[in-house]
Amino acid sequence: MSVVAKRILVTGGAGFLGSHLCERLLAQGDDVLCVDNYFTGRKDNVAHLLGDLHFEAMRHDITHPLFVEVDEIYNLACPASPIHYQFDPVQTTKTSVIGAINMLGLAKRLKAKIFQASTSEIYGDPNVHPQSETYRGNVNTIGPRACYDEGKRCAETLFFDYFRQHRLRIRVARIFNTYGPRMHPNDGRVVSNFIVQALKGAPITLYGDGSQTRAFCFVDDLIEGFLRLMAAPDEVTGPINLGNPHETSVAELAELVLSLTGSRSSITRRPLPIDDPVQRCPDIGQASTMLGWHPTTPLQEGLKHTIAYFDKLLTERGAIEDSALLVTP
Ligand code: NAD
Ligand code: UDP
Ligand code: UDP
Repeated sequence: MSVVAKRILVTGGAGFLGSHLCERLLAQGDDVLCVDNYFTGRKDNVAHLLGDLHFEAMRHDITHPLFVEVDEIYNLACPASPIHYQFDPVQTTKTSVIGAINMLGLAKRLKAKIFQASTSEIYGDPNVHPQSETYRGNVNTIGPRACYDEGKRCAETLFFDYFRQHRLRIRVARIFNTYGPRMHPNDGRVVSNFIVQALKGAPITLYGDGSQTRAFCFVDDLIEGFLRLMAAPDEVTGPINLGNPHETSVAELAELVLSLTGSRSSITRRPLPIDDPVQRCPDIGQASTMLGWHPTTPLQEGLKHTIAYFDKLLTERGAIEDSALLVTP
């Protein structure tokens, strides 16, 4: 007897994380519908999947209703990097809030299981370390990051209200900083900025004194966490932290990128952006006990894969604008 493939919708499927997720789902035999408005996603990210009969790409903005037939939904659509989500902050909140309502309405009609890509940003600038799921956060409701943080917080609220009110099967993952191939070279995030700058021999832009910390998770590890969470029993709704608990200061990251690329770039200081969290590190106890999940890729190894990706990209498209290299707060 043949097993019928599951039909899976991935919103934001042409983005960094979404494209890796589409790939993994296809590899495990699922049928994938990628929905994206290409605001920060790129057709290039999924071009290699277009020949697969089990893959379909649709241009659509999730702030508008969507009528399709699927068994599961991964809701990833939302710009993730500060310069992109602050470009049109009203649209960012709409994507998180109205987009969530539409995708939850879709899931309700279809009785489909639905996954939300939430974020460590819901903890704001945390005063508890490491952050566990019970911590309620410290978000500035009116700052420049609020369109993203509050939008994602409201989306979590909607997921849990649809769960309680409509018995929807939900999964909410709070994702911490993730990096890897297919990050947007111009998205201003620290890993892509440092690598592109190092490869070009341009100055490495260190914001503040570089003592602020982040914990960086390699994309393949994160996607494994998504799949495990989706496959977990329905009681496992989350919110559940997914990230790498190995904390690194931004200054250490700069040194590591310089040494792995062999670059002679200098380090230049820039002001710390407003509301930039001082310290961030996940407590992944729940993911470990409930999903048996923990990241396995050391930072050095993940960075090597990411450097190789950007090296190829820069060689192929020597045309990446120089403005892409010096994104400042
Ligand atoms: P990304 O910007 O590469 O991907 C987001 C995708 O969503 C893009 O393809 C974009 O075009 C699409 N999109 C944006 N608004 C849309 C809309 N209204 N309708 C349809 N498509 C839309 O970012 P990413 O890093 O792949 O992040 C994916 C998800 O994971 C986001 O929801 C983000 O908030 C979350 N997340 C990511 C990280 C990380 O470190 N990468 C950390 C925490 C949370
Ligand atoms: N929705 C959608 N696709 C569907 C079903 C619903 O996009 O297949 C949207 C619909 O437009 C609505 C939202 O999801 O605005 C919420 O739907 P729900 O049924 O929860 O609420 P209501 O329709 O009562 O507002
Ligand atoms: N950062 C930096 N130089 C850059 C880009 C970012 O020093 O060129 C810092 C930034 O101030 C923050 C950290 O690196 O403290 C992570 O920034 P990113 O935008 O990647 O992620 P987020 O702040 O959302 O965690």
